[in-house]
Amino acid sequence: MGCLCNIYTNLFDDTIFRMPFELSVIGGGLAGCEAAWQAANRGISVLLYEMRPQTMTEVHKTDLLGELVCSNSLGSVKPTSGSGLLFNEMKVFDSLICKVAEDSTVPAGTALAVDRKLFSQRITELLSAHPQIKIIRAEITSIPTTPSIIATGPLTSPAMTQALQDFHGEKNLFFYDAIAPLLEADSIDMETAFWGSRYGNAGSGKGDYLNCPMDKETYDAFVEQLIHAQQIPLRPFEQGISEGVDAGHGNFFEGCLPVEVLARRGVATLAYGPMRPVGLRKSYPGDPPYAIVQLRQDNLSHTTYNMVGFQTNLTFSEQKRVFRMIPALQNAEFVRYGQMHRNTFLFAPTLINPGLQSLQRPDLFFAGQLIGVEGYLGNAATGMVAGINAVRYLYQQPLLTFPQETIIGGLCFYITHAQKDEFQPMKANFGLLPPLFPMIKSKGDRKAAYGNRSLEMIKEFYNRQR
Ligand SMILES: Cc1cc2nc3c(=O)[nH]c(=O)nc-3n(C[C@H](O)[C@H](O)[C@H](O)COP(=O)(O)OP(=O)(O)OC[C@H]3O[C@@H](n4cnc5c(N)ncnc54)[C@H](O)[C@@H]3O)c2cc1C
Repeated sequence: MGCLCNIYTNLFDDTIFRMPFELSVIGGGLAGCEAAWQAANRGISVLLYEMRPQTMTEVHKTDLLGELVCSNSLGSVKPTSGSGLLFNEMKVFDSLICKVAEDSTVPAGTALAVDRKLFSQRITELLSAHPQIKIIRAEITSIPTTPSIIATGPLTSPAMTQALQDFHGEKNLFFYDAIAPLLEADSIDMETAFWGSRYGNAGSGKGDYLNCPMDKETYDAFVEQLIHAQQIPLRPFEQGISEGVDAGHGNFFEGCLPVEVLARRGVATLAYGPMRPVGLRKSYPGDPPYAIVQLRQDNLSHTTYNMVGFQTNLTFSEQKRVFRMIPALQNAEFVRYGQMHRNTFLFAPTLINPGLQSLQRPDLFFAGQLIGVEGYLGNAATGMVAGINAVRYLYQQPLLTFPQETIIGGLCFYITHAQKDEFQPMKANFGLLPPLFPMIKSKGDRKAAYGNRSLEMIKEFYNRQR
């Protein structure tokens, strides 16, 4: 991968640089396209490698860059939503994905939905016409030895998967998402739920788990609905996941089976499994419950809780309907729904820093779903961070760590600091942000305040790094 050209313009002050720098970006998805755009606009010559159409993934259908593999919605654009705030933050940094999304919207209420073909066509056109970018249609099967960003996504090709495994070690690469729902703390009925840890309340004293009790009648009704609830159909390459056997990589962990699959094994299975009440009798004020659902704190600011052992493949509307049958969760708001799909991702916390730079090789950066981010916009945002920081590395400038008070900074912080046994792909949400002081009681006012703080910060941050 030799050097292509030497004269570049700088985005910010129009100074003409003579720079022999070249950066390879592997993967022309949401993250790779944003990374290439950010790097090229900062005067770097970018080689963008995309394996399609010669080698297709199991879900991509076209040869277009930035193809949306499933939904055509990039999430809510309300500034009081995680995705809306992220969108506004990214626009401050002249995001390609946000710019193109705005040019290809279709009506969808407060959601930013796009005409998927127009969206990807426009990205392909803009990157193809960029004087600093050369698009190369080829599968990369090893980690380049020159400065690079790897953004090959959840369906990274098998050869690159092997290369990543060789580079980082087998234990640092995961193949699936088995995600349990994440709930907003203030939507949980605290009158019904109780604090307690199994077999004693070490740690904080009151117990580390929030337990949602159920009597036998409620439990039986819940299991009945769970068994018959509608599931998201699995694609052929995912067949077997929900039965406990993976089609491609051997056995699927028993501990990650969807809760509805466990329920089908017998009406009492959950009550003796993830919903067992044992060890909690002393914490419960009344008669011991027949079953409990444990919720575990998911962020430092206590604003989100995940449902322990509740990996699921139910449709999102069914998750809402069935899980709200749990008395303490009758008004639960879902920050993220449970999901199961094939997803190759690295254990980022031990492999990269918040600037998305490899801890093993400073000229190597990672972005997108491959580092444990969920959602189109979130993945594009990490492409933005990697693109900017790869350029800064090449110019020998200190890398940028986005402020944690921004969704971009919060995402980068989460993926580089999560605990190994709790690391699951994360999407943009307010739970990533540090709490406000003083705390604002009204939910609407609080989200607006988070949004204002984040936008002020990102603008100041942008001006400082120019
Ligand atoms: C089945 C499925 C459904 C999903 N549905 C949604 C959804 O509805 N909404 C949502 O927000 N997110 C969804 N996601 C997550 C989604 O994939 C990400 O949000 C987003 O596409 C990830 O961006 P990315 O750039 O990391 O990966 P991608 O967009 O997948 O881009 C990676 C690119 O790298 C290319 N590539 C792979 N290996 C190589 C190689 N060795 N050499 C060269 N090129 C290579 C691929 O062809 C691809 O174009 C889904 C994921 C899957 C697997």
